[in-house]
Amino acid sequence: MPPASRFALRARIVLPVSRPPIHDGAVFISGNRIAAVGPWRDLQAQADGPVTDLGEVILLPGLINAHCHLDYTGMGGAIPQQRSFVDWINWITSFKAEWDFSDFAASWLGGARMLLRNGVTTVADVEAVPALLPEVWQVTPLRVISFLEMTGVKSRREPALILREALDTVESFAGWRNTLGLSPHAPYSTTPELLRLAGAAARERGLPLMTHVAESAEEFEMAMLGRGGMHDWLRRNDRDMADCGGVSPVQQLERTGLLCDRLLAVHANYLTHGDAARLGRSGASVVHCPRSHAFFGHRRFPLEELAMAGVNLCLGTDSLATLTAPENPARSMNFIVHHLLPQNTSSGDAGPRAQRRWTPRGDGTDEVELNLFVEMRAFANAYRALAPEDIVRMVTVNAARALHRGGELGELIPGALADLTALPYDGPVGAAYEACLGHTGAVGGVLIDGRWAREPGAQGTG
Ligand SMILES: [Zn+2]
Repeated sequence: MPPASRFALRARIVLPVSRPPIHDGAVFISGNRIAAVGPWRDLQAQADGPVTDLGEVILLPGLINAHCHLDYTGMGGAIPQQRSFVDWINWITSFKAEWDFSDFAASWLGGARMLLRNGVTTVADVEAVPALLPEVWQVTPLRVISFLEMTGVKSRREPALILREALDTVESFAGWRNTLGLSPHAPYSTTPELLRLAGAAARERGLPLMTHVAESAEEFEMAMLGRGGMHDWLRRNDRDMADCGGVSPVQQLERTGLLCDRLLAVHANYLTHGDAARLGRSGASVVHCPRSHAFFGHRRFPLEELAMAGVNLCLGTDSLATLTAPENPARSMNFIVHHLLPQNTSSGDAGPRAQRRWTPRGDGTDEVELNLFVEMRAFANAYRALAPEDIVRMVTVNAARALHRGGELGELIPGALADLTALPYDGPVGAAYEACLGHTGAVGGVLIDGRWAREPGAQGTG
């Protein structure tokens, strides 16, 4: 049955995030937008369509995952922790080389199911295989902003050509519900010229930007001192290292003009004096990925420094390729054995290749999951002085602001898109934010664009 174009959802707690929690609240929906939000007693006289009483739930804005790589979901838990960041890059590169289109598509869609099951309605996703998009965008109700990944070290291709190709892809998707952005991968894996061109094009066309920056100690050492493991590895791969030495990775972004209010700067773990202020002045947002951060054992995320500088902070899951699955070492061992044994490295051998392939189900039975509730808990455990409300803001209003979609996503206000998540909860209204951080299992319902992507009360698969 097609959804009514006007309907109301009543819930014991409505959490608009940008306004105080509402006990016995309601959200009125008209088409794909929110028409009204308030106490049920104030709004009930205006109800002119069906009313669904969701009962003992917290109804809050759909969560926004500010950094993900859906097409790597199938690598979840398979890459063991490495001695260095460069070793990890080599692993993921070899993994990608063995995957075909259908591997990436299954991986992407499995990741999208995980996000929906876990209350995410919008994802800012880095896309390494743009050819997937027409197919996968049509299948998922998830709202996706796909940032086209651009690298420029090994391909030897002209930066202008790399950018032209990305902009052609952007133009080819004009008119779709989902949208695109640009993602020069990182300052170390691209050229200064590509960063400069991407920044200028994004500002000219109003596109969002995303890049990984200052993620590892090796990257910081390469930029600041012009030496180290990453420096030597990239020089061997014919990268022009003239931009390194005496600058920080954040300064590399500033010099090329990529540091601007359209940028989602992912990681920002290793900062030199003045970098937090540079980020703050530019209006760029920083995305922290707590479990990916722990996987690599990076130094403490400079939360206080960034917050003091007024930087808009968000949370992301990153990809499942940066999660270990300690509860299932056999899977990792299986991968290692089949990946490393010489008899299994020959191409065209479907046997071991099939064993390495993992199609994520996204139904809650996978050993590792893309899950912002787990990320929020990991973050809260590491930064106990933070209020739960501040952490929930990082996956709602802050992320919407980073994407220049404030007022439209990440909060429940009239005029916003009707993207909502319902969490089962029977506790006091005063502890609603704590309850969001503590939520486990599938959410109680997900509405996107005014339609149920997960019906209220749905359990298990979906
Ligand atoms: Zn990433």
